[in-house]
Amino acid sequence: MTATTSAVPTYGNYIGGEWRPAASGALLENRNPADTDDLIGRFAASGKADVEAAIAAGAEAAASWANTSAIARGNILYKASELLAARVERGGRELAREEGKTLKEGIGETTRAVQILRYFAGETAQPNGEHYPSANPLTLLYTVREPLGIVAIITPWNFPIAIPAWKIAPALAFGNTVVFKPASLTPLCAVRLVEVLAEAGLPPGVLNLVTGSAGEVGEPLVRDERVVGISFTGSNAVGQELKQIAAERGAKIQLELGGKNPAIVLADADLDQALLHVVNGAMMSTGQKCTATSRAIVERAIAGPFTQRLGERIGGLRVGNPLAPETQIGPLVSEEAAERVAGEVAQARQAGVQLVTGGSRLTENGLNRGHFVAPTLFADVSPESRLGQEELFGPVLGVIPVDGLDEAIAVANRVRFGLSASLFTRDLGKALAFVRGIQAGVVHVNSETAGAEPQVPFGGMKGSSSYSREQGKAAREFFTQLKTVYIDPPA
Ligand code: ADP
Repeated sequence: MTATTSAVPTYGNYIGGEWRPAASGALLENRNPADTDDLIGRFAASGKADVEAAIAAGAEAAASWANTSAIARGNILYKASELLAARVERGGRELAREEGKTLKEGIGETTRAVQILRYFAGETAQPNGEHYPSANPLTLLYTVREPLGIVAIITPWNFPIAIPAWKIAPALAFGNTVVFKPASLTPLCAVRLVEVLAEAGLPPGVLNLVTGSAGEVGEPLVRDERVVGISFTGSNAVGQELKQIAAERGAKIQLELGGKNPAIVLADADLDQALLHVVNGAMMSTGQKCTATSRAIVERAIAGPFTQRLGERIGGLRVGNPLAPETQIGPLVSEEAAERVAGEVAQARQAGVQLVTGGSRLTENGLNRGHFVAPTLFADVSPESRLGQEELFGPVLGVIPVDGLDEAIAVANRVRFGLSASLFTRDLGKALAFVRGIQAGVVHVNSETAGAEPQVPFGGMKGSSSYSREQGKAAREFFTQLKTVYIDPPA
């Protein structure tokens, strides 16, 4: 270890109300994806013993947290939202440094986490069951929603504070205790979220953070019989694995997986508006959103000129250090991700797909120290090709020309995913036909495929989800179970 790295901070797990190192003492390094010489911190590289301690702490706190009034739980979430609101600038900067999205996006996401905490603080005062008429006029018949118990929250790196917030806030609001395993690429945002919740007054054991790898932390966590619910956002492959594990032991599970999200652009659309939202949907956060636009399905009459304009706009995006104010596009999150995306792009080029702009890694002007890939556009992409079917999770957009709305919807639906979708048109009839015909859980007309407000349900159809929804009123359904109560007067 050199003298310069000795000032690098070290962060522990949060278990039973205490910050502590991994039982083994092992650490993992967290580096800036825009500049791998920049070591952000060292975090607990936890193992089974730490998972065990976190679950035990969650179990011990479960009954008293479940019996705490919902309003009191909401007050803590509200306090946490205030604490985070006061730290949005720092949080946004740390997010950009750790994950690689731009400072503006980092601040935006941290602000969104504040709003999510606030929203679920308010949800605690909403009805928690329903009253029904009974066949017997004297019977009081109602349902009440009760917490599941201990839940595992397993999150990806691409929204390192918003996704944990939108899972943890409802889990806590509705009376569960939590073991939180964040992505190993973004542990600092996880620490910051847990800090505000702890400072806001969560009792020990209610929220436990265990950082570390999928194999050492994630696996033992999801396999533990005491963990009743699992809320996971991440890759399809891992989601399918977790679904099997949950099915075998009867745990409740919620999956948010990938997308291959289409933006359909019809000839009658406001093309300036369409251009803006297609480019932003495809390229912001370096294309690493599960709701990112990866297919522009464009009516043939305008496909040529629209593709040209897309190419100019995408080719002109300023790629660089996410903390620099002029930067529009940052790096990919890791070297592995950058190599994978560059490999997919090279493969498409070899297969003869028409490249309009981008198409390679960027290494000039110091970008070789980070994981940069040029924003890339392909024209005339076949809907059945790899580029038309697979989620690349990077700054890559393909244009698919079609003859009108019916074909556009058919092409849009011919993938295994169904997370989000957009249509650009001025025609109300076409907009309504699109909303009816498209297989997607989140549907936009004249706005980009990405974006989710906390008060409405979020989730996908088909392979993008598991038929449950997050956020809004839907969150209560996942994080609670129903009890039906018949009360009759004594005879
Ligand atoms: P991403 O690359 O988008 O983070 P992954 O699906 O690889 O997607 O990971 C999402 C989260 O799930 C991460 O926190 C990761 O460590 C965790 N994870 C990955 N594999 C497993 C597994 N087999 N069991 C439990 N958690 C896992």
